[in-house]
Amino acid sequence: MRRAGLVVWGAHQVAKSMVRPGVTTGEIDAAVEAFFGEHDAIPLFKGVPGKVPFPSVCCISVNEEVVHGIPGPRVLRSGDIISIDTGCSVGGWCGDSAFTHGVGEVSPDVQRLLDCTQGVLQLAIELMAVRNRWSDVAAEMATYVRDRGFTVVENFVGHGIGRSMHEDPQVPNFCTPAFRRNHDFELEPGLVIAVEPMVNMGSKKVRGLADHWTQSTIDGRPSAHFEHTVAITDGGPVVLTAPPSQGESVGAAGSAA
Ligand code: MG
Ligand code: MG
Repeated sequence: MRRAGLVVWGAHQVAKSMVRPGVTTGEIDAAVEAFFGEHDAIPLFKGVPGKVPFPSVCCISVNEEVVHGIPGPRVLRSGDIISIDTGCSVGGWCGDSAFTHGVGEVSPDVQRLLDCTQGVLQLAIELMAVRNRWSDVAAEMATYVRDRGFTVVENFVGHGIGRSMHEDPQVPNFCTPAFRRNHDFELEPGLVIAVEPMVNMGSKKVRGLADHWTQSTIDGRPSAHFEHTVAITDGGPVVLTAPPSQGESVGAAGSAA
C-alpha cells in the first residue's frame, strides 16, 4: 500500500505545481491521469458508478464545493481554493489522499479554514498513536474544528481502504452516541483507514448539484478537505500517502511485476 501511497503523493505534487490563476481544473486532472499512466497505476475514481459514472481521475472541488467536483473547463482565479482528491492502485493495493490549496492570494479567513482542516487531520493522525478507539479520535476532531469557529461535514466520512478504495469501517470526523454504540472500532495493528475531514466555514450542510456528483455547501461559503491513508502498525500510525522518506522514491519497485 505504501507503493500506491507514494504514487498518490507524486500525483499531488504534479497537481500542486499547476495550481495558479488561469489554469483549468481539467488541465490538472489530465496531468494527474498522465502521471498515473507513467507509473503503472490504476486510477480509482474514473468510472466509479453513479447516476453517471465519475468521468475523471481526480475529484476537484472549488470554493463552496465540498467534495466530488468534476474537473473541466473552469478557470482558477486568485482567491479561489481548490480541493484535489485522487487515488490509485499499484499491484492491487490502493492509496487515497486529498489536499486543498489556495490559488494566488486567499483571504485570512479562508487561510484559517485551510489551516484548521489540515490541522485536524494532523491531530487525528497523532491521536491514533495514543487512543484505543476511533470514537475518541473523532470526538476530539469535532472539538478542534468547533473551537476554531468552523463546522465538520457529517454527510461524508472516511473509510477503510485496502484491496478496494472503499472498505469497512466508516470513519466519521465527528462522534455521536449512536456511533459509539453501534459502529465504533478499535485502532489496532493491521487497520488501514482513509482519514478525510471536510470542514466548512459556515453551515455543515451540503447539497448535491445537477451533475449528480458535486457536493456544495448549502450556504455557498467555502469548504476545505484534507485526506491521508493511514495504517496502524505495531510501531504506531504510518501515513502511507506521505512524501518519500530516505531510501524511498515514487515508482521505485513500482511496476506491478
Ligand atoms: Mg479521497
Ligand atoms: Mg477517501
